[in-house]
Amino acid sequence: MEDGTRQITRPFTVALLGNPNCGKSSVFNQLTGLRQKVGNFPGVTVDKKLGKAKLPDETEVRIIDFPGTYSFYPTSLDERIVVQTLSNPSDENYPDAAVYIADVTRLEKHLLLLTQLRDLGLPVILALNMADVADKEGMEVDHLGLARSLEVPVVKLSGRTGFGMETLKRELQLLHQGITYQTLPAPFYKLSPLEQSTSEAVSEMVPGANLYQGLLIAHHYQWLPFLSDAQRKLIGDVVQRNRFESLRSQVDETMQRYDKFTPMARQSIRDVRPANRNITDKLDAILTHIIAGPIIFLILMLLLFQAIFTWASYPMDLIEAFFSLVGSLVHDKLPHGWFTDLLNDGILAGLGGILVFIPQIAILFFLISLLEEVGYMARAAYMFDRLMQVFGLNGRSLVALISGGACAIPAIMTTRTIGNWKERLITILVTPLISCSARIPVYTVLIGFVVPPKTIAGLFNLQGLAFMGLYLLGVVAALLSALVFKWILKSRENSFLMLELPEYRTPVMRNVFLTVWEKVRSFMWEAGRIIMAISIVLWVLASYGPRADMQAARQEALVQAKERQLDETATANLLAARQIEASFAGHIGKFIEPAIRPLGFDWKIGIALVTSFAAREVFVGTMATIYSIGSAEDDYSVRDRMAMERDPLTGRPVYSLAASLSLLIFYVFAMQCMSTLAVVRRETKSWKWPLVQFLFMSGLAYLGSLITYQLLA
Ligand code: GDP
Ligand code: MG
Repeated sequence: MEDGTRQITRPFTVALLGNPNCGKSSVFNQLTGLRQKVGNFPGVTVDKKLGKAKLPDETEVRIIDFPGTYSFYPTSLDERIVVQTLSNPSDENYPDAAVYIADVTRLEKHLLLLTQLRDLGLPVILALNMADVADKEGMEVDHLGLARSLEVPVVKLSGRTGFGMETLKRELQLLHQGITYQTLPAPFYKLSPLEQSTSEAVSEMVPGANLYQGLLIAHHYQWLPFLSDAQRKLIGDVVQRNRFESLRSQVDETMQRYDKFTPMARQSIRDVRPANRNITDKLDAILTHIIAGPIIFLILMLLLFQAIFTWASYPMDLIEAFFSLVGSLVHDKLPHGWFTDLLNDGILAGLGGILVFIPQIAILFFLISLLEEVGYMARAAYMFDRLMQVFGLNGRSLVALISGGACAIPAIMTTRTIGNWKERLITILVTPLISCSARIPVYTVLIGFVVPPKTIAGLFNLQGLAFMGLYLLGVVAALLSALVFKWILKSRENSFLMLELPEYRTPVMRNVFLTVWEKVRSFMWEAGRIIMAISIVLWVLASYGPRADMQAARQEALVQAKERQLDETATANLLAARQIEASFAGHIGKFIEPAIRPLGFDWKIGIALVTSFAAREVFVGTMATIYSIGSAEDDYSVRDRMAMERDPLTGRPVYSLAASLSLLIFYVFAMQCMSTLAVVRRETKSWKWPLVQFLFMSGLAYLGSLITYQLLA
């Protein structure tokens, strides 16, 4: 599915690089607009944004937005991706040229990576971003002087206003035509004799690598994935023989670079900024205040939660109404038969199940990227990071956990911003334990059985308390599981919190809308396909069965209907109930009965467990089908029917207190949502983690129910 494998001649490829928060993505959006897509770097979960830009002479170049990076001595997975791509000229993502984005208001901090990038032997353009801020604050920038001392073309740019984009494209064109660099400038950093001899030997082993790339490989040969074991061993020998000390050499190199570029930066920039930072400082005094800060955050999150919960319900109702309308049209207008059924219960149900999540995803990401753009999210992460670290999570996990209360799908998609892979993974794994809105119908039906609608102390409704108890149980389970995963999972990287907080800014709406669009699209295509496939499989399971069984069930239902003189609807209901019993789903239900007996469940509940794998709320619908045994008392609700259900052996109610509680506990913990699994697969780029999650949550559900039932029954 990746391009590059199919193409033989590669388009001219430009890498966008820069420190985190330099405005790289904004520039990328300016250059490419909607002509972008998301892929991933080979074998890892780091997103790679690809886009196309048109140069003034109409040539199209390919742009890759690399993850934010501080230097070629990486501290995070994101940074490693950059290093492994750029130190290997044969990498499929190795660029033909680079545009380095630097925040001009922090130039002295941002030039380190530029000077490293320059030494790779790639043509580089330096873009001084945030030119609008520099102008407003009265900074004077001598970009031509800087170009002379650094020996690279320099343009002033604003990812916000679009200022300078045409100049940048013109520079890219000159570079593409080979006009800018006749020869590349001499390396910025001069290697020590020891480094020189080490990297000469190393660079010979990797095709196309220049001297500085040789040095980088010597530093990182232990983990660089493109090296073969044989190469690794040879490089290890060279390093040993030369007594090459990686850490010392890294420090020396970094110091030398700073010593050289700091005066260059100071000469070309006159920073006459008044105490403008005050606005940020003043806001921070409140927003990150030790008491006010968390309260404001919780209020914001409450609003966010309300928004996904209530605002989204209108478009969701519309989508559901639309699909039920189309469904009944299909049902009435098309000839009866398997195709109509497949269309209705397989394909339309799947499509509806995909589209119904879109309002929640869109609203959540609209609000979150707004907060992100303004600069608030970094603060929130910073405030809660310490606390969340206790559970192996990250400050940013809190947003996922809270929005998981509405729906795990968009919540899991927000974990993209968690830089540390282990913390991100744990967040993904535990978020579905938070009770989402789809559990509400199940909770409602079952609590109705178990808990009398009494009010205690004249204030608290007992059923309401039970609801809250279930929610709390989910939260506690999520946090405890996080602790367990923290302990089990091995980490490849240190957690590392960005200490530099961005300044508050008014949001760029273009970035916000592009984020929303990207999330919606990737959910529809990547998770949507899986949801559709599972939906069809579940339809087959519930509508087909061994032929003889299905026919017998049909006969029996018809005879019974005749005997009892049922009307048409009642007959259809009875037929549906008997058919699902005889179907593959029914067989599975019966097959698993011995396993779920100890939990207090019979095979009918077993069927509902199987079908509600599609989505939890299907439970109520399946129960309605199974119990819609046509009879005179047809206006009983599902709940009444379930209450009347007796165990054929013991004659006791099936939905006793113990069994109902056990079922409730099961639904708190179980991973009954194919859409979540599909999203987890998309976010972790493998089937391993959704599988682990499924097994772990099912195990938890089983144990929880077992204990509950055995204690109470
Ligand atoms: P990235 O982390 O490098 O991808 O940076 P983003 O593109 O996400 O930008 C970080 C923040 O800087 C966002 O709030 C942007 O709106 C803002 N930003 C980006 N470019 C500019 C610019 O040229 N001027 C101003 N004032 N803000 C910018
Ligand atoms: Mg970005």
